[in-house]
Amino acid sequence: MTADVVVVGGGVMGLTSAWRMAQRGLKVTLLEANRCGSGASQAALGALWPPSATRTGPLQSLHRQSLWGFEEFANELGQAAGVAVDFLRRGRIELLSDVKAQADAVQEVAAAQANWPPMVSPPVMQLLAGDDLHREEPEVIPWSAGALWCKLSAQVGVESLLAALQEVCRRSGVIIMESTRAVKLDIAEGTFRGVHTLSEKIAAGKGVLTTGVGTGLFGEVAKAVPIHPVRGQALLLNTGREMIFRIIKNGKIFLVPWPDGRILVGSTTEPQAGFDNTNTADGVNFLLTGAVATCPALAKAKLEKIWSGLRPSGPHGRPIIGELKHIHGLVVAGGHFKIGIGMAPLTGEIIADLVAHGRCKYDISPFLPRE
Ligand SMILES: Cc1cc2nc3c(=O)[nH]c(=O)nc-3n(C[C@H](O)[C@H](O)[C@H](O)COP(=O)(O)OP(=O)(O)OC[C@H]3O[C@@H](n4cnc5c(N)ncnc54)[C@H](O)[C@@H]3O)c2cc1C
Repeated sequence: MTADVVVVGGGVMGLTSAWRMAQRGLKVTLLEANRCGSGASQAALGALWPPSATRTGPLQSLHRQSLWGFEEFANELGQAAGVAVDFLRRGRIELLSDVKAQADAVQEVAAAQANWPPMVSPPVMQLLAGDDLHREEPEVIPWSAGALWCKLSAQVGVESLLAALQEVCRRSGVIIMESTRAVKLDIAEGTFRGVHTLSEKIAAGKGVLTTGVGTGLFGEVAKAVPIHPVRGQALLLNTGREMIFRIIKNGKIFLVPWPDGRILVGSTTEPQAGFDNTNTADGVNFLLTGAVATCPALAKAKLEKIWSGLRPSGPHGRPIIGELKHIHGLVVAGGHFKIGIGMAPLTGEIIADLVAHGRCKYDISPFLPRE
């Protein structure tokens, strides 16, 4: 079998990149070892909150650009796929823990007002005193230290996003091969030639590796693309009615509410768990205790689902994006850690431009594979 490009890994990165490459006229085959989306992507809570406005590094800058374009991306995707992508921009409220957090929040508001796009009615970010918080979110526990309300934060329904991405890929002519694991890269004289599965070789002039925590399987790239797993546990509560209206963040716990009464609760951060992708009593207890402490009425909510996922984390939580110097024609995109859903629109564009044109309009030098 032959293709212009073979994509290995059908998570949010692989699917988005495959769609964007097909739009550029490339013949794309995507291999997925299990089902598309079944890795970290399906575990995500779909929270799309921008990094602090006071942080101006290259990752924060790319992340914000991706998030500012997310609504347009979701609309374009939904239309092209004929599958609605659930998207809401209702903001995020972070409970402030102490005097330092309050002081940081003042700077944060000033930086956001000065630099962020006016995508909602102003202000884009504001401080809430305890009384204001109670008025906006009456079910959240009284909080005298106040809160920070980021109105540009949004949320996407991950199930709908992944369903739409698979459908749009099919409609764009991408050949999706599920239950098909790539077991070996075919490389000759430093140039990518294709991949081997257990039963056949897929020959292709270009390759895209979006294998998340599975990237280490490929010995030729493991050193240049060091991606390790960081387990995250999460759960779904259902209150049957809308009780909270925005994403609420309280320390390490966050709640992502949907209008039908579902509330996603995330998440643990457990690098020590390695490749163990199971829920633990400790993890579930941490989430439930935090959720009920934040919103006491949740004690009566139905516990509908618990799950865990292995976030692919690059060095220091940074993604790795770009062509491998020692394997011409092979591009990687992975290690997006906690922000892969939010980063997918921009990463997909970058990968498609690199593969189709050999360059992209963003400065990805800080994210290139280490060689
Ligand atoms: C609990 C939790 C909550 C999260 N919440 C958010 C959030 O609110 N917002 C956000 O932006 N991000 C969130 N994330 C992070 C986000 O889920 C990830 O950053 C993102 O899904 C990574 O996507 P990916 O495509 O790189 O990896 P994956 O989704 O893991 O995809 C990799 C795919 O490659 C396949 N694969 C691996 N090896 C092979 C092989 N040899 N051959 C073929 N296929 C192979 C795997 O089966 C898998 O499907 C969360 C993650 C977790 C765990």
